[in-house]
Amino acid sequence: MDELLKPALYRAEGTTAVPQRPALLGGECGACGYVFFPLQRYGCEKCGSLDLKPRDLSGAGSLLASARVHLHAGKGRVAPFTVGAIRLDDGPIVRTLIVEEAGPLAVGQRMATTLETATDAEGAPRLDLRFAPEA
Ligand SMILES: [Zn+2]
Repeated sequence: MDELLKPALYRAEGTTAVPQRPALLGGECGACGYVFFPLQRYGCEKCGSLDLKPRDLSGAGSLLASARVHLHAGKGRVAPFTVGAIRLDDGPIVRTLIVEEAGPLAVGQRMATTLETATDAEGAPRLDLRFAPEA
């Protein structure tokens, strides 16, 4: 299996709640319980506490919005592609790429993580996270 493109953000193994889908590596505030993604150490976005700990987030959620990008100025990605905002079942909202074969998308539909082969800056194959409609 290829290495992950961004191993600080996700892992191939799922969580206990959603074992078959790659987990996202988020965090939780020890003071107020706020759950966030990605993990950061600057302080809780809700209460400011520095008591932050890693928390694995299940790779499942609901689609809030999506957009098909037909023109993209960045060099890292070739249009067209689809981006979406997904509210994870564990709370945080993530902005993410959606698999090309997803077909028509509807707000509120169930989405789940999957790993797809991409390439890193040097062109080597790496697995990168996407969301796909839940089968
Ligand atoms: Zn907090």
